Amino acid sequence: MITSALPYANGPLHIGHVAGAYLNADIYVRHLRALGKDVVWVCGSDEHGAAITIRAQKEGTDPKSIVDRYHALIKDSFERFGISFDIYHRTSSELHKETAQAYFLELEKNGSFEVKTTEQYYDAKAGMFLADRYIQGTCPNCQNPSAYGDQCEKCGSSLSPTELIDPRSTLSGEKPELKETSHWFLPMERHEGWIKEWIEKGILDGKPHHDIDQWKKHVMGQCKAWLDSGLHSRAMTRDLDWGVPVPLEQGKNKVLYVWLDAPIGYISATKAYCEANGKDWKDYWQNDESQLIHFIGKDNIVFHCIIFPILLKEHGGYNLPVNVPANEFLNLEGDKISTSRNHAVWLHEYLDEMPGREEELRYVLTSIMPEVKDSEFTWDDYQARVNNELVAILGNFVNRCLVLTGKYFEGKVPEPSESETPEELKELFATNADEVSTAIQAYKFREAMQAAMMGARIGNKYLADTEPWKLIKTDEEGVKKILFESIRIIAHLIRVMGPLLPGTSEKLKGMLGEGLDAEGKVVKGGALGEVGLLFRKVEDEEITFQKEKLIKEPIAEEAAQMDVKAEIDFETFSKLDIRVGSILTAKPVEGADKLLHLEVKVGTETRQVVSGIAKHFKPEELPGKQVTVLLNLAPRKIRGVMSQGMILMAEDETGKLVFVGPESAIDDGSEVR
Ligand SMILES: [Zn+2]
Repeated sequence: MITSALPYANGPLHIGHVAGAYLNADIYVRHLRALGKDVVWVCGSDEHGAAITIRAQKEGTDPKSIVDRYHALIKDSFERFGISFDIYHRTSSELHKETAQAYFLELEKNGSFEVKTTEQYYDAKAGMFLADRYIQGTCPNCQNPSAYGDQCEKCGSSLSPTELIDPRSTLSGEKPELKETSHWFLPMERHEGWIKEWIEKGILDGKPHHDIDQWKKHVMGQCKAWLDSGLHSRAMTRDLDWGVPVPLEQGKNKVLYVWLDAPIGYISATKAYCEANGKDWKDYWQNDESQLIHFIGKDNIVFHCIIFPILLKEHGGYNLPVNVPANEFLNLEGDKISTSRNHAVWLHEYLDEMPGREEELRYVLTSIMPEVKDSEFTWDDYQARVNNELVAILGNFVNRCLVLTGKYFEGKVPEPSESETPEELKELFATNADEVSTAIQAYKFREAMQAAMMGARIGNKYLADTEPWKLIKTDEEGVKKILFESIRIIAHLIRVMGPLLPGTSEKLKGMLGEGLDAEGKVVKGGALGEVGLLFRKVEDEEITFQKEKLIKEPIAEEAAQMDVKAEIDFETFSKLDIRVGSILTAKPVEGADKLLHLEVKVGTETRQVVSGIAKHFKPEELPGKQVTVLLNLAPRKIRGVMSQGMILMAEDETGKLVFVGPESAIDDGSEVR
């Protein structure tokens, strides 16, 4: 039973996601399938939680539209990239709702929860309790005025909403009030004993459960750090109207916490898959013979190694994971991948912009996979790996071998009389497939890819050393043998590359045609299929385009994330008296190089206005210009001149100023509203 972290349906996938929990699992699962194991691999969109409702609110739409859009985009990207889930489900489905509610009720029945009343911020105007992300205020640590209720993104400290200075609701801009609310808490401190023994020794209920030496050090490290600081009670429900409703009368207007809801999504996805395929989901989740493995990124370790196992054990009957091989993070061009800054390589854009290069991305991401520490993707490295490894080694070997066979032996697998395996190839055929397999089963995908490439390296060297293109003039029998053995190497590559580069493996099968039997053995005299190029060189222009895109395209989301001042009502707005006026005269203000002294005619009045625009405009270019003026701003004496209004200007990030005047001429004194 294999699971991959459910992608959150509020944005597209980037290569960091792919290298974190999907490509590794895909290789692992394809390998298990090739071994003939009974394996189910599930994933799906995580469609609940406050981040979805916040996004919907910013875009002026409803949560359903957001999740429908991103579920479709994510599912499609996975399919196009060749990620072979048995099912890609979604947590907004009815089956998931039933499954999650039944799970919750079972825990409730078992006494796994404690209902506690706490005080939480409530927005009276919006009529709702505020999720942490809906509250902004000043950070108590760094004074950042727009810290969130759970975190300050400026100094990185994690906060609770009540720590914020001057908290305000992002829904109404109002100061929220503290109000009592009840929630179902999971008292995790009850479970410290057994979970410690399970994590640190691999022992469950007094019996060996899994081999802790197979767990990654950084995964164990994070779990131990958490356990050392003590487990605490955690709320498993939320006051929100988007999610799986709490199925109890006293839980009205509450939903399951997204971190209770999402992992149950693995179970509901398995149910959906099994229902459609005549299987029993319990064989995978509730059977001693089955092993549960979670593929995730390092940000999900605690949930999958501590919280979800507690939930599984509290329910009863379920298997606990035998391993959680979390990957670390993938960085991009010297910086963290950032969704909000659009510093990312988006999978769907890659697939559109680099068509036919799915295998190249698979190869590069596997080769640099952040298995035990953070790693980095750069476009130069991508180009170098594709051109110097895939094209120059794998592609070149296959091409030389098959083109020569076409030329000398009419495109049929040669039939040498003697068939002793040459010394230099013996080790490859004897041990390489096991090396690749062992590495994959130990979650060492980089090592597996390197080992799999050995066949192509050795094949290339074999051709270079034996030089069949020269030998053909004197020893045709010798060339038959060389090319036959080379085709055996291709057959070997088809097998070991199967899980790693499945598309390439399929292409190679096609090229060997009748020269390969159903068991993967080379058939002497078999006619080869059509021989084509496996990989195209990556040109400089392709790389330059991608690099420039990273620099040039900051933030499609910026507009949505702009800091807007607190809301005002119409009455407040209507107090402003803004009118169109014409500048009559403009002159410098003595002793102030930024200021101009303007006389502005507004209707029947002429007003004196001191304006800080001298650095941007010359006095002589201003008379006659129509502008907008805020008339009822309290008069103020500036450098000895009484300023009786304010000229409205627009200013961009660079400090550039332009007048905000009427689009076409209109009578002075016309009201702006
Ligand atoms: Zn801060």
